[in-house]
Amino acid sequence: MSVASHAALFTPLQRADGRKNLVGLSREELAAELAEFGLEAFRSRQLWHWIYHRGATDFGVMTTLAKPVRDRLATAYVIERPEISRDLKSSDGTRKWLLRMADGQEIESVHIPEEDRGTLCVSSQVGCTLTCRFCHTGTQRLVRNLEPAEIVGQIMLARDALDEWPAPPDGRLLSNIVMMGMGEPLFNYEAVAKALKIVMDGEGISISKRRITLSTSGVVPMMHRCGTELNVNLAISLHAVTDELRDRLVPINRKYPIAQLLDACRTYPGINNARRITFEYVMLKDVNDSLTDARALVRLLTGIPAKINLIPFNPWPGAPFERSSDAAIQAFGDFINNAGYASPVRTPRGEDIMAACGQLKSDSVKHSAALRAALAQDVARAVAEKEAAAGL
Ligand code: SAH
Ligand code: SF4
Repeated sequence: MSVASHAALFTPLQRADGRKNLVGLSREELAAELAEFGLEAFRSRQLWHWIYHRGATDFGVMTTLAKPVRDRLATAYVIERPEISRDLKSSDGTRKWLLRMADGQEIESVHIPEEDRGTLCVSSQVGCTLTCRFCHTGTQRLVRNLEPAEIVGQIMLARDALDEWPAPPDGRLLSNIVMMGMGEPLFNYEAVAKALKIVMDGEGISISKRRITLSTSGVVPMMHRCGTELNVNLAISLHAVTDELRDRLVPINRKYPIAQLLDACRTYPGINNARRITFEYVMLKDVNDSLTDARALVRLLTGIPAKINLIPFNPWPGAPFERSSDAAIQAFGDFINNAGYASPVRTPRGEDIMAACGQLKSDSVKHSAALRAALAQDVARAVAEKEAAAGL
């Protein structure tokens, strides 16, 4: 499995009416596009401001542009968001959008409000080429990379819904971004990088790199580039402390084993005690949740500026695992705390709307009791097929 083979999955989207979407173009591309259209460079800066600072979706409101220019722009371009196919609100305030792309494919974004911030969990692919055993997204057959417009579009759509254009400097409802939705962001690096550069632009959406976290299952060859070019916070889906177990849970480990992964963490640009790497660890009953595992985890991370995030497993129909007991999570967490890692357990949020990774889509397919057994077989078959295709 090569990084290049994943890039080949990219499917460009075309609008039926021939108009182009301006969302997702870099500043330079926007300037070039508009120059070709006959507009001066300062007009492209004005458009950038309307699109990414003011959140305009209609050229008609762009009062700094002359009316005939606005009309002409509207004949050639759109400022588009993904279409909302479902909008679910949890009793705890978590909100989940199932979004339909122009080609009918669906993805999810989740907004998690907290006291002092609000985090949007963003998807990078439709499905995922990888097949982590505990992850429902990993069982989905359909996979394609998202385009930059579809990634930035998730954030813009959340700002629309939260009524946050332009966003205030402090106290934002959408202040943080985690690339932890569907897909492996480092297998769609080009599009993710382009999207995040737009998101970080100080004259636009303006979310700083310190408030953006990219989670990877461990695509080692892309980590350094990500750190150098984007320098966002990094989260690693570790989930196991031995190669033997990680090979099974997170199959990309067969290609890039734990030692290589941790080396790439040690040399991740900009890492220090004030800016740590987050290690995600899903708590699976009787699989990886013993105190022996906790001890090995602490030993493994020695010398790496690290935070540990324990994630109680979110079950899905047909999943071959159970969530660790509260007592096991507590004991594991206490051990980690005593070793100097603060507040490690991620509280499950939005459980009533199935806000966990990849679950709304499974919910939108009706599961009859009989279907559940078939689904379990389907999951196993999909995983086997995808692994064969990926050469794992
Ligand atoms: N592909 C990237 C980012 C998306 S997954 C990655 O794997 O890091 C975001 C996080 O949710 C990962 O740590 C993933 O392992 C975890 N996750 C996936 N399915 C889960 C489940 N059913 N329960 C708990 N955590 C899960
Ligand atoms: Fe893909 Fe991440 Fe799920 Fe693994 S955990 S299958 S890499 S989305």
